[in-house]
Amino acid sequence: MAGGYAIEAEGLTKDFGNIQALGGVSFSVKENEIYGLIGHNGAGKTTALRILSTLISATSGSAKVFGFDVDKQPHKVREILSYLPEEAGAYQQLSGIEFLEFMAGFYAKSKPEMKEIVEQGRIISDLGDRLNERVKGYSKGMKRRLLIARTLMMKPKLAILDEPTSGLDVIQSVNVRNVIKDYADNEGVSILLSSHNMLEVEYMCHKVALINQGFVVAEGTPRGLIEEYGKQNLEEVFMEVTNVE
Ligand code: ATP
Repeated sequence: MAGGYAIEAEGLTKDFGNIQALGGVSFSVKENEIYGLIGHNGAGKTTALRILSTLISATSGSAKVFGFDVDKQPHKVREILSYLPEEAGAYQQLSGIEFLEFMAGFYAKSKPEMKEIVEQGRIISDLGDRLNERVKGYSKGMKRRLLIARTLMMKPKLAILDEPTSGLDVIQSVNVRNVIKDYADNEGVSILLSSHNMLEVEYMCHKVALINQGFVVAEGTPRGLIEEYGKQNLEEVFMEVTNVE
């Protein structure tokens, strides 16, 4: 492990044809930290998360996850991270609990471990008896809870969460934020997440990077940034650094 860092990203760029999604993004996430990427639609958040999750390659730059290079050692990286895409589906024909069992089967090395992982998933999902129903009939929020449970239940060293509370109501969002905080504080899971919700980010993240048009335009602790820019909250900081009136 390299110096207690979960992520070290250095000068990441990504071009999709003529579109430059990332123009040179650098940031690092310490072990057990909750780190947030914030930015407008199209700022490049998902692209950065997908590069770190080994799903796509950067055009240039480099990134390491717990010292493993995402490009040269993707299998090592995949063993220790779990990724929640922005828009993910679960197998519609399975029941919620069958889905958790199916996913746990990829990680568990023994029956007791499998039972423990599924139990964690059951608790995180907070779906109670409805876990016995087919995913097909779940609401959007229920599916999101199931997918968050799938991502965190095996206690990965690093969880990458793209808009974790998207589609959730206020109560569900609060529950999910608390679950994420709990996994970082007590289960040794480092977290990189993206969000549009500044209140959420202010509440949850130890550190944030504000991304605009493919570049990090400010970075720091939420409180530190608010003080540095002399603002009331992170939303006002964000408006100033991205030049939105
Ligand atoms: P949102 O908050 O809307 O999810 P984002 O910050 O996650 O946005 P990205 O999805 O990373 O933004 O997109 C950054 C830019 O790259 C956008 O202009 C987008 O259209 C472009 N882009 C992303 N993926 C592709 C792709 N596969 N092909 C072409 N362009 C892409």
